[in-house]
Amino acid sequence: CGIVGYLGKKETKEILLDGLRELEYRGYDSAGIAVLENGHFSNFKAVGKLINLEEKTKNFKTDGFAIGIGHTRWATHGKPTELNAHPHLGESSYVVHNGIIENYATLKKELQNSGITFLSQTDTEVIVHQFEKNLKLCKDSFEAFAKTIKELHGAYAILLVTKSNPETIFFAKHGSPMLVGINDEDEKYFASSDTPLIGHCKSVSYFEDGDYGYVTSDEITIFNALDIKKEAKFSALSQNK
Ligand code: GLU
Repeated sequence: CGIVGYLGKKETKEILLDGLRELEYRGYDSAGIAVLENGHFSNFKAVGKLINLEEKTKNFKTDGFAIGIGHTRWATHGKPTELNAHPHLGESSYVVHNGIIENYATLKKELQNSGITFLSQTDTEVIVHQFEKNLKLCKDSFEAFAKTIKELHGAYAILLVTKSNPETIFFAKHGSPMLVGINDEDEKYFASSDTPLIGHCKSVSYFEDGDYGYVTSDEITIFNALDIKKEAKFSALSQNK
């Protein structure tokens, strides 16, 4: 299973699919991507090998600034079906997640009691609905995302994109690996391991457990589990695979 993310002006679909291909060795049963460009989401999912996802996305490409997230799934909650494949959609946000949300059943029940319909059997889907519930309670997406992360127990690497902030990727890490990579072109790359970033990024920063935050073209903002803002520690990325 693996996660990739991209923010920048290059053709986003190719970057996401190339990244997922580099993570294939981690094992997976299904895959998917979501791309937000000019306020419009495109979403593709497929069961089985990445070639099936490539086939579904073959007529799609981005043409300028976009943000995108991608996922290869190793099912823990819910069968490996297209509906259970990530990214998972709320009203206007998508999420990808590696790991397990231990308290998903409690959160799901509360959300269902407040009228939210779930489309999948995954533990992951609670993340996007909880975020959108908090978006209605909080002053902005940043506050809503921070609140959401605190309400999740378990292991996770999470990327979330939302129409409320169409130039931002939100991230959180606890127990599952994830790093961010940068270059001189103001692009941002995310992945579960450094291999997808080779050839794209000069330097990378590994998130630590409890880290969460967001990136845009010109900033990376990271908080630790105690909500204290921290500097990303970048190191040079070796360009050998
Ligand atoms: N627990 C999530 C699911 O079953 C994520 C699995 C993964 O890490 O790929 O959908």
